[in-house]
Amino acid sequence: MNNIYVKTKEKKYPIYFANSFNGIEKAVEENDLSGRKLCIITDSNVSGIYAQNVKDTLEKYFESVFVYTFDAGEKSKNLNTISDFYSFFLENHIDRKTVVAGLGGGVCGDMAGFAAATYLRGIKFIQIPTTLLAQVDSSVGGKVGVDFKNSKNIIGAFYQPDFVYINTETLNTLPEREFNAGMAEVIKYGPIYSHNFTEYIADNKKAIADREYSALKHVIKKCCKIKAEVVSKDEKEGGLREILNFGHTIGHAIETKMNFTLLHGECVALGMKAVFNICLKRGTVSQKEYDELLSLLEYFNLPLNISGITADEIYSQMFLDKKVKNNQLSFVLLESYGRPFSTTNVDKEEIYSAINAVLR
Ligand code: ADP
Ligand code: ZN
Repeated sequence: MNNIYVKTKEKKYPIYFANSFNGIEKAVEENDLSGRKLCIITDSNVSGIYAQNVKDTLEKYFESVFVYTFDAGEKSKNLNTISDFYSFFLENHIDRKTVVAGLGGGVCGDMAGFAAATYLRGIKFIQIPTTLLAQVDSSVGGKVGVDFKNSKNIIGAFYQPDFVYINTETLNTLPEREFNAGMAEVIKYGPIYSHNFTEYIADNKKAIADREYSALKHVIKKCCKIKAEVVSKDEKEGGLREILNFGHTIGHAIETKMNFTLLHGECVALGMKAVFNICLKRGTVSQKEYDELLSLLEYFNLPLNISGITADEIYSQMFLDKKVKNNQLSFVLLESYGRPFSTTNVDKEEIYSAINAVLR
């Protein structure tokens, strides 16, 4: 199987790519995880579709396999659900030798990982992401956690899994809107890495939208490779890792101000358009590159404009983001296509003009 590796100070772990769950046995063996207990954590949408399959495939490799299902959705991403996981762990005598598997989207992976990181001060953990967003972003890099009160992901840890197993076939059941939102994060990797990647997406957009294995595998693997490279150099966001936040400064503010009625990826699409607008005005990306980005976002039905909020609201919201230091906004801009840099040196006027570019 052709896998790639994420290297961090504490460990090096593989990401496997496949279009079924068959290879997961080999992944368990290769990483020396067989013989233990396995606790699969999944959500109420994914459970009925995939949990049995994963359980059946792995049953012979583990002493026993448990499945815990929580209610799907961001509303479950809190400490109460984590507390339910801990109770389940206690009831089933989950010990240091148990492996926790997060089978689902980003919400599931973040919570399963947080529980695995904290229960008994850390037990084995594997990621089996089933949304495009989780496959190209949240399952790689070790950020785990939950929301608290109205703040997203403010309780958490860095906890790297023992492996990530990406079965692209799971994307066949993913609702189209969720798939397209994941495409926003996929598209993001072009401007921050290389124009060749954007060209590949543009040339294969129909195959990707049709969820054809070879095209999907190519793009997902490339995104993981880029993310793995960035995370390997900067696990805890001391600098380089920030480039992954391309489009997120304005995107997050929109996401919060719209009361999470838009999906994260949809807001990233809006945020990228806004930032591209700054780069276009600065002359660091061309009109052609700008148009190309917009047409890709449009192809995947991502929003290019929104109404119902004002530029002032978005602007003030940006200062409330947990990433803001010393009351200074930080943006990832492009020196040229494929060459991102992080800066706090962006005028208020430029920011307003970028925000206005996405308001209707
Ligand atoms: P994300 O990965 O986008 O951060 P979630 O974990 O909330 O967010 O997943 C988005 C939605 O898609 C949830 O309702 C989840 O139950 C559902 N879902 C996840 N994976 C699949 C899948 N492979 N098929 C169908 N629905 C899925
Ligand atoms: Zn994101």
